[in-house]
Amino acid sequence: MPADGAPPAEPLELETSKSSFPELRRIIRHGETPPWLQRFVRNVGRGINEHAMIAEGDHVLVGISGGKDSLSLALALSLRRRWLPISYTVEAIHVDWREHALSASDRRALERYFAAIDVPFTSIPMSMFPPSFRGRFDCYLCARNRKRVLFDVARERGANLVAFGHHLDDIVETTLMNLCFRGEFATMNPKQPLFDGRLHIIRPLCRVTEEEIVRIADRLALPIVSIDCPLKEKNIRTVLKPMIRELHRHNPRVRQNIYRSTANINWDYLPGKIDTTDGS
Ligand code: SF4
Repeated sequence: MPADGAPPAEPLELETSKSSFPELRRIIRHGETPPWLQRFVRNVGRGINEHAMIAEGDHVLVGISGGKDSLSLALALSLRRRWLPISYTVEAIHVDWREHALSASDRRALERYFAAIDVPFTSIPMSMFPPSFRGRFDCYLCARNRKRVLFDVARERGANLVAFGHHLDDIVETTLMNLCFRGEFATMNPKQPLFDGRLHIIRPLCRVTEEEIVRIADRLALPIVSIDCPLKEKNIRTVLKPMIRELHRHNPRVRQNIYRSTANINWDYLPGKIDTTDGS
């Protein structure tokens, strides 16, 4: 603490190649998209087209956690606009939990990143624990709270699509989580209508593996920020991830097969109804 009692100033951030994204600026300004990035954007496009997610005139609000998934999603949606014969609006919204607020340098890095990829960025401060939770809290309630904020912003700004950075691995984990821990066959829908179809959640990374996103994030040095939430380690996904990796060792298409199974229901081999009154 300085002698005058003022809080210590944040260290001055120099404009380094990592914070100014020279490669991204080149790609965006001059359209020099390298083949590895084109491949990623094409894979995103595959999911978008398969589920008819985005059409002419749509307004997409991308939910930004600050992680690699949402940052790479915003990039893909921005780049795609230049290649397509349709025009749509993209903006990025970050819910900044007051209890784990962004540092000033992380905020600047995100602002620079979104300026570089030509996507308007807004960070909205919110409390993680609204009074309506009455002291209860878990990842489910946290995610629901974040969605609520995003839906409100979408309504205010006239956005008809809210895009999340959930990728193929997230969808596979959710499917297994529902099956193994909830006794239910349900997944994350790549395109989910809400409020009588006035709003849709879309998941354009549904065809992209986490591994591919990690590669993109590393190569472009995306300004990833992560919050230090103590519940992170307790999340059941951290248990499922190594199991899926083990299954992948036996069959490299295991993720794609689980994804496929969500739309490939063989009713002849499903009982339709079983007695669950004994709780089993
Ligand atoms: S790990 Fe923390 S921030 Fe992430 S969903 Fe759970 S409670 Fe929310």
